[in-house]
Formats: sequence, C-alpha cells, structure tokens
Amino acid sequence: MKNLLHNTALTTLLLATLQSCSSPESSAAKNRSDSTAFYTANDFTTIKKTDAHVHVQVNDSVFVNQAIKDNVNLFSIDYDDVNEPPPMEVQEEYALFLQKSFPERFQYATTISVRKFNDDDWTTQNISYMRNSLAKGAKAVKIYKVIGMSLRDKQNKLVMIDDPRFDSLFAFLEENHVPVVGHLGEPRNCWLPVEKMTVKGDISYFTQWPIYHMYKHPEMPSYEDQISARDNMLAKHPTLTFVGAHLGSLEWNVDSLAARLDRFPNMAVDMAARIVHLEVQARDNWQKVHDFLIKYNDRLLYATDLVIIEQSDHTKAIKSAHETWTNDWKFFTSDEKMTSLQFDGSFKGMKLPKYVIDNIYSKNARNWLGVFKGE
Ligand SMILES: [Zn+2]
Repeated sequence: MKNLLHNTALTTLLLATLQSCSSPESSAAKNRSDSTAFYTANDFTTIKKTDAHVHVQVNDSVFVNQAIKDNVNLFSIDYDDVNEPPPMEVQEEYALFLQKSFPERFQYATTISVRKFNDDDWTTQNISYMRNSLAKGAKAVKIYKVIGMSLRDKQNKLVMIDDPRFDSLFAFLEENHVPVVGHLGEPRNCWLPVEKMTVKGDISYFTQWPIYHMYKHPEMPSYEDQISARDNMLAKHPTLTFVGAHLGSLEWNVDSLAARLDRFPNMAVDMAARIVHLEVQARDNWQKVHDFLIKYNDRLLYATDLVIIEQSDHTKAIKSAHETWTNDWKFFTSDEKMTSLQFDGSFKGMKLPKYVIDNIYSKNARNWLGVFKGE
C-alpha cells in the first residue's frame, strides 16, 4: 500500500546536532558481544548498513548513489498487484539494471504472480518465473498482502495464504532454500476505528481510503484471521525461511511479536515502515521495547520501505531517504529524547549495543536473506 508507505516519510525529523564521542576502538571481535560498546552519530557513514526492504523502480543511479553516500546496501523488493503498476516483469528489469550496475550495493527479491492466479497452469508458471529470477540473481521471493486482502478465485472466494493451492510453491522454496519475504495482513490499526489508531499516518490514510479500512468491512477477514492464516502457513512449512515484512504485521505489540518468534524459529521480521510503531511503544514503555530488541536481536532486519519510481520527485525521494536513514540510526544508537510527527509525546532512543546494531543493520539480512554475503 504505497500511500501508507509514503506516510512514513512524515516520521523523518531534522537530525539534531549530535555530539561526537570518539573513543579508542577495540577490535571488532572483542566488541562483538560487548554490551557496553556503542556507536555514535559519527559512525553513521563508516558502518555499512543494509536496508532490507525498499522499492527502487528507476533506470538511473541517483537513489543508489545516495545509499552509497550513506553507506547503505539496498534490498529492493518486487511485488505483483493488479492495482499497483508496474507489472512484476518491469520491476525485475529495473532490479536487474541496478544489480548489474551496483553488484555490491543492490540486490533484489522477485515475486509470484497474483494476476494470473486463476490460470490452470498458475503453479508451473510461477515456479518457472522464480527459477528464472533466481538464476538471474534474485535472493528471495516476495509474497504480497493481496493474498488475504483482495485476491479471489474463480468462485469469487477470497484466497488466504494457508490455502492448499500455495503448498507446492512453498515446497519448491523450502527444497531450494529460498527465503520468503511475506507481507501478509495490514497494521492492526486497519481494523480499529479511527479514534483508536496509534499513528497519524494510518488515521489520515484510512480516512482518505475507507475502502481499505477493514473496520468498516466486517464482511472481510478480521485482523486475527490474517495472522492465523500466516501462522497456519508457517506451521505447514517448518523449513521455510520466512521474513515477515512490516514486523510481521504484529507491529502494535512487541509481546505479541515475541510470541510468534518463539513459536516459529524459522521466522524473522523486517521493520519496513513500522519503526514508528516501535517508537510509539517506546514512548509508553521504553524498557519493554529495549528488552525486546536485545532479546530478539538476531531475528530483526533494519528496513524502511522507501519507494522511488520514475514519476517520483527524485530530489525529494533522496532527501527523504537520507533523513529516514539518519533518523532511524539516531533512534537505535542514541539515547536522545526524540519526537515523531506521527504521534504526540516524546520517546528516548534505544541506545543498543554495537553487536545488536551490527545484527539488525547487516548480519541478519545476510543470514536470513542471503544478501550482501561478501561483506
Ligand atoms: Zn514494501
């Protein structure tokens, strides 16, 4: 849902002047699990980071150049949605162009077709498309929320992700050790009345687009139905490597997310477009969010959901990317008091130790998605 994603740009704040605090650096190995070693704002450009969920759909290098300046590797994710052009084949062309131009900095995930779901040879078509993408360098396969939210079969029945028609695709991915990035469901706010929503971006989006506001559509599956379908799918495929996009749609409560991570050892999550939900929870209970990030530090992938398409204002998109990356770095590495345009009140940065930052910002993407392995 791109408009929702764009709203996250509202969270970007001017980076306050941060004091430098340089201390003699011990060896990386020594600091690996040292919980008293921390990065500062000055380390932002020297530490290589991975943004594990972006959508870069342009045939030029301006966005990647900004990522290089900010020392960010990009993992761009294709998806297939009849309402959101361009088609996945075109998205893959963009990805291949950038992967070829910046092999050290840019990698991508392919996807499966939902537009052709009702074709008789849909499974064969998708396996063949995935094989082809993997041969060209795709590192993972994206499964998109249209499954569960809008995809209908020939009987006009909504298709959920635990539907047996997906079993052979997941079996193929399990057998070939291909990770899945699964965006399933929506933020829980989507099922709440506007006055109960926790972040302003959701309030304005669902006010503008009541058609997508599930609170107003009781005939549609509930939030719990979406989460259960995803859980059922994971239970059916215990050897599938699964990265739940957007904090696995459990963004509203770290306890709830922790319970899923405990139940499914093959599941990690990316933070794309949902860091604001960690921030709002940090406003209310800093320690709880901090403890969660420490405990699950090997299951969380830094990601933003930044989008750039041909029609975007490139200057604006690049500025927004830089602000988002620096602001998020400040949230995770410092203990400064911060505010967000998305909610009232203030919160304190997480000040996570270096070994946690290293995991969240690069090692987990390498381990779970197999990306940027040469580093
Ligand atoms: Zn996305």
